Amino acid sequence: MTEPSGQSAFDPHNPPSRELLDDCVHCGFCLPTCPTYQLWGEEMDSPRGRIYLMDLAERGEIGLEGSFTQHIDACLGCMACVTACPSGVQYDRLLEATRPQIERNVERRMSDRLFRNAIFTLFPYRRRLRAAAVLGLVYQRSGLPKLVERVLPPRLRAMQALLPPVRLREAFAALPRRVRAKGPVRRRVAMLSGCVQDVFFHEVNAATQRVLAAEGCEVLTPRRQGCCGALGLHAGREEHAVEHAKRTIATFEKLPVDAIVVNVAGCGSSMKEYAHLLADDPEWAERAREFSAKVRDVNELLAELEPRAPRRRIEAKVAYHDACHLGHAQGIREQPRAVLRTIPGLEVVDLPEAELCCGSAGIYNLVQPEPAAELGERKADNVRAVAPDLLVTANPGCLLQIRRYLDDVPMMHPIQLLDRAINGTGA
Ligand code: SF4
Ligand code: SF4
Repeated sequence: MTEPSGQSAFDPHNPPSRELLDDCVHCGFCLPTCPTYQLWGEEMDSPRGRIYLMDLAERGEIGLEGSFTQHIDACLGCMACVTACPSGVQYDRLLEATRPQIERNVERRMSDRLFRNAIFTLFPYRRRLRAAAVLGLVYQRSGLPKLVERVLPPRLRAMQALLPPVRLREAFAALPRRVRAKGPVRRRVAMLSGCVQDVFFHEVNAATQRVLAAEGCEVLTPRRQGCCGALGLHAGREEHAVEHAKRTIATFEKLPVDAIVVNVAGCGSSMKEYAHLLADDPEWAERAREFSAKVRDVNELLAELEPRAPRRRIEAKVAYHDACHLGHAQGIREQPRAVLRTIPGLEVVDLPEAELCCGSAGIYNLVQPEPAAELGERKADNVRAVAPDLLVTANPGCLLQIRRYLDDVPMMHPIQLLDRAINGTGA
């Protein structure tokens, strides 16, 4: 702990605001829903403890290095505490202000820095991801993964285990730029195809286009689009997030659409945040506000539309996993369940400890593999407890994370199940 200087440990660029810090009345209602508090029972790894650390740093009583960074790094950013807090504490805003401070002002260990840089040099770029997919396929077929698994350091082991099965045809497939609505047009929408989603989950994007079209939406999917900046935003890489946010706005704002549709929970929550991210930029603030106001998760949009396309019967018990960035960050819980219930024969069940993160959390399962593994196993146990035929969740990160610990239950995005019911395709 550094000597109190009376001067804030944060730099003047968007520090966590004193007003937001003071909103916390230290009641502790958020503690039981916090995954890291559940794991370790440590006050400083709870929301209340982290707010207290931010408070001390803001008063200049502690520095940002060492323990402060360690406890903030250990936070999943799952926002379960935001849902649980009766006083309306905006921990999401506090964390968003704090993480960039760490990235700017704290010198990370060389290995940590290199690992994080490697993630941000690869993941947000589709061409690089496609090249990596080719290498990944060769690697997966070489038999090497089994051989080297035991000797890999934990972070690389996590990366290897989370690599989805590579399908080159999917990785290189292009989505149609325009898909016409079936029947009279009810909505004109633009779709984010994303970066990781576009390369490794092409089928989810294709299913989204088909379902939206069947429900009367004309779907525009611009080719020249990419990462929305979500990974950077959640990891405190503000420059990265701002750059990708501006590019995404510039791509979509010229399209004559009613809504911008997203099928990835983490991306949708970030795109709704652009208005806040760019609020102080005179050139972009208004554009960001208009953009964010149009963003809809695909489940949110479908729930607004009276079902029009006939659904085939699917007799199955489906467990729905709430992705944190859909449930906690966007408050979208009912809509995906309601959309699934439009499929005749489907039984939709909830999971025990549904509010608890699965450990995916953006790049968390790569940079904090041990706690992520504990949470992944716990989520897998909770899924097994309800014995579903199928697990669905609207976030690819969750799919990859849970699949690692649960290989006996098939999994998919809810839109793929709807696609199967409406179009008899996919999944
Ligand atoms: S964040 Fe909210 S729930 Fe948690 S201690 Fe503070 S006031 Fe209480
Ligand atoms: S965001 Fe999640 S992990 Fe972080 S303090 Fe809140 S509940 Fe805990």
